[in-house]
Amino acid sequence: MNNKQNSILRKIPSVDYLLGHPSIKITLKTTPRSIVLKATQQTLSEIRQKIKAVEEDDKISNLEVNTIIDLILNNISILTQPSLRPVINATGIIIHTNLGRSILPKRAIDQIKSISSSYSNLEYDLETGQRGSRYVHVEEILKELTGAEASMVVNNNAAAVLIALDTLANGKEAVISRGQLIEIGGSFRMPEVMKKGGARMVEVGTTNKTTIKDYESAIGPDTSLLLKVHTSNFQIIGFTEDVNLDELVALGRKKSLCVMEDLGSGCLLDFSSYGLKKEPTVQESVSTGVDIVTFSGDKMLGGPQCGIILGKKDIISEIKGNQLNRALRIDKLTLIALQETLYLYRDKQNALRNIPSLKAIRQSYKSLCLKAERLLNLIGKINKTNFIVDLCDGFSQIGGGAMPLEKLHSRLLCIIPVNLSASYIAKYLRSYTPPIITRLEKNKVLLDPRTIQERELVLVSDALKGLSRKH
Ligand SMILES: *Cc1c(COP(=O)(O)O)cnc(C)c1O
Repeated sequence: MNNKQNSILRKIPSVDYLLGHPSIKITLKTTPRSIVLKATQQTLSEIRQKIKAVEEDDKISNLEVNTIIDLILNNISILTQPSLRPVINATGIIIHTNLGRSILPKRAIDQIKSISSSYSNLEYDLETGQRGSRYVHVEEILKELTGAEASMVVNNNAAAVLIALDTLANGKEAVISRGQLIEIGGSFRMPEVMKKGGARMVEVGTTNKTTIKDYESAIGPDTSLLLKVHTSNFQIIGFTEDVNLDELVALGRKKSLCVMEDLGSGCLLDFSSYGLKKEPTVQESVSTGVDIVTFSGDKMLGGPQCGIILGKKDIISEIKGNQLNRALRIDKLTLIALQETLYLYRDKQNALRNIPSLKAIRQSYKSLCLKAERLLNLIGKINKTNFIVDLCDGFSQIGGGAMPLEKLHSRLLCIIPVNLSASYIAKYLRSYTPPIITRLEKNKVLLDPRTIQERELVLVSDALKGLSRKH
C-alpha cells in the first residue's frame, strides 16, 4: 500500500460520525438500529477493500461524506427488502416452476385479501353450527366441472399421488409401465414416491412399448392398483405403443382392481383448437370411469399450488380418512385461490380471459409482434456502445412439464452485446428492482413479451435505457 492510499484510508469517517449524520438519523426513525449499523459497517469495509485494490488512486480521491451516505442508504435498502418478492418473467416460459408457476387470477387475489382479513367458515357448517369440512368449498364445483363423483384437495400433486398410493396400495403391488417411470423436476421420481406410499412397484412392458397383455400377466394375488402416469416433461417418439386409459379401466373392472391416473398438468379446457397438441382433458379422464385422477392446481389449471384428487365416492372418503391427510392438507389461502380459479371455469370465455396462464398461452403471434414493438418504442433511441436492441422471431414454452415439445411462436426483444457481455447484461437485469429474468441464447439476451405483463413493459424499458447509459 502506498502513502496516498494510507492517507485516504485515514480520512474515512468513523461509524459513530456516520450514525450521527442527519440523513442517517432520519433513517433510524424507521429502520432498526441493528440494520443501519450493519449497513454502515458493510459500506465502510467495501470502501476500504476498494481503496486497497486500486493502484492508481486518483479515481478514489473524492471520498465525499455524501457519497458514503448514499452507499449506506443503498445497502440499507438491500438489507431491508423482502427475500421473496415480485420479478418480471421475460423468459417466455409461462408455467415457470422456479418463478412461482401460475400468476393468480385477479378475483382470486381479491378474495384472498377479503376472506383472510376476517374469520371464515373454513371448517364450520353455517347451517348446523357444527364443525364442517374444508373440502366442501371446492367439492361441488369440481364435481360440476369434471363430472367426478367426489373430490378432495391436498398441498400439491406430489402429495395427491402419495396419499392415493398410501390409501390404495400400501403393502400391496401397483402395476406401472416402464415407459412411465418418470422424474419430474425437483426430484419427484415415480419409483421413489411409490416406495414412500408403501406400494411395491411392478414394472411392465419396455421403455417404448407396453401392451394391455403386459399389465394382465403382471396381475397376481397381491396386486391392488393399476397406475397410469402422464409422462409430462418428456415424450417417447418413434416405435412406440401405449395402453389407453379405457383399456386399463376395463382390465381393472375385470380383475376388481383400482385404476389410478396421475395426469400431472391436468387441463380442463381442450387447447387443440388453439393449435396445441391434443391432451386428454380432466373430464375425458374422469369419463373413462377411472377410480382416481390426480393433477396439479398451478400447472395448466392456472391456479394456486395444490393437488386435486377426483374419483369414486368410497375411495375419496377413504383418502379423506387417511391420517397422512393431516400432514398434507391444503391451507386456507390456497383454498380461497382454488375456489375462485375454479369458478372462472364455469364459463369457458371467462376462464380464457381471466386466468393469466391461459391468456399467455393464447396470445397470438400478431399481438406479440405489437407488444414487442411497443417495448422497442418505449426504449426509443439509445446509445449503442453497450449493446444493440432488435426484434427477432423465436419461441415461448408452456413449461411446468406440460407439453414439452410444443413451441409457441413469439416475437422477442433481442439484446446484442457490444461493450458489455451478455452475461453481464443478464446479471444487471436480475439485480434491477424489480428483477428481470431473461433468457441467454448464443451470446444474446432474449426477452419474450409473452410472459411480460403489459404494466411491466415500461419497467423493462427503463432498465435497458439505464443500462445503455452505464459506463
Ligand atoms: C408435475 C407433476 C407432478 C408433481 O406435481 P406438483 O404439483 O409439482 O407436486 C406429479 N406427477 C406428474 C405427472 C407431474 O407432471
